[in-house]
Amino acid sequence: MSISLPSTGVGPALVQPGLLGIEPSFGFGDRLGFATPGHLLALQEAGGAIRGIFAQQSIREMTRTNRTATEVMAAASDALSAAGFSDPWGADADHLKTQDDVRQTMAAGFVFFTLDPSGDVDQQADNYAPAELATRFEACKPFTPWLDAYRGKTVRFASGEIVFDEPTLARAAVKYGKAIQTTIALGRFVQEEAARLSKPCELELSVDETEQPTTPAEHYLIADQLRAAGVRLVSLAPRFEGDFEKGVDYKGDIKSLERSLRFHAEIAAEMGPYKLSLHSGSDKISMYRLLSRATEGRFHVKTAGTSYLEALRVVARCDDELFRRIIDFSRGCYDRDKATYHVSATLADAPPQAEVADPVELERQYLERWEDVPAGAGFTAPGRQILHCTFGSVMTDPELGAAVKDVLLGNHSSYSEVLRDHFVRHLDPLREG
Ligand SMILES: [Zn+2]
Repeated sequence: MSISLPSTGVGPALVQPGLLGIEPSFGFGDRLGFATPGHLLALQEAGGAIRGIFAQQSIREMTRTNRTATEVMAAASDALSAAGFSDPWGADADHLKTQDDVRQTMAAGFVFFTLDPSGDVDQQADNYAPAELATRFEACKPFTPWLDAYRGKTVRFASGEIVFDEPTLARAAVKYGKAIQTTIALGRFVQEEAARLSKPCELELSVDETEQPTTPAEHYLIADQLRAAGVRLVSLAPRFEGDFEKGVDYKGDIKSLERSLRFHAEIAAEMGPYKLSLHSGSDKISMYRLLSRATEGRFHVKTAGTSYLEALRVVARCDDELFRRIIDFSRGCYDRDKATYHVSATLADAPPQAEVADPVELERQYLERWEDVPAGAGFTAPGRQILHCTFGSVMTDPELGAAVKDVLLGNHSSYSEVLRDHFVRHLDPLREG
């Protein structure tokens, strides 16, 4: 399958982001504010088959880098305007948890709002023994007035049947009951604020940053409840099965993932249609074709940290001494900073910089990409994970943060070139499906 989208052709620069609906889209998070020209080169090389979300930061990322939503928006729209870009593009206020998050990002011009109720997801629901599950099921009944509507119900999809027997319903209610309530409240708030202020908005729901996979039954129930409450999703990021670590390929049973992607895609088509969204989406090379095919092009992929890592590649090549200071500093804060990320690297997995004299080898140890490794050679990238988690500490360090920005300003075209190269390899398999 090959995807193509109409182009609006050459015209005046469209500096405002807009709604992308269920067109295939790719989120290029840019934590430093210098990456949009490179992101645009990659997207254009992919032939305009996929829409770009060029402004995309979570509240957590903006807090860690001391940036405002307005600055994030301006970095993207100024770069697109300077390039004369006139196709539709998106702006994703990622991982929103509160009404205040929504107000801030809507005021800055964001139009795609990612609701994140993961704080209200019971992350251990799949592990409870029957007695414990029963107790918790009882406790969540105040949030789940809808239970009787599903009890004993069977829903048929091409991939299989969803049977709402008592254990399935209990686990779904315990895992997501409170989160559904939170999502409905925040989703309605976004829609009402947008209507009140005459602003465009579209909604994604993400539960990707939780421990246990979202089953088809749970996906169906969440989507059905949001729809009944008038919360209109354009995209949903389930917690897919397997491991989605930062900066490395998918870890898990790829055949089983493919079956489950198809099932989730059928539910998304029936209950929306809305897109299936993949977060922590950089470097998941073994998944892109599967996602594109299973969803028949109704997908969204989010990346963010990978553009920071490519910025460090420019540092590694232009200023070896600075790169070494960043490695020392990052190793010093990794064990603290990794707490909110899904990574498996330990400091022992990558050598201290002082033990690696050769700059090329040092770049390989800390920034190796799947593109550089033969297929099947076991790409684990511990150095990349160490640098990935510590971006906030580096960029808010007065000396290091300013030095990284200076290198990027002085080597802007090198940065754009490494980004173009890296992202074309993500976009091609998505586009070709
Ligand atoms: Zn996410």
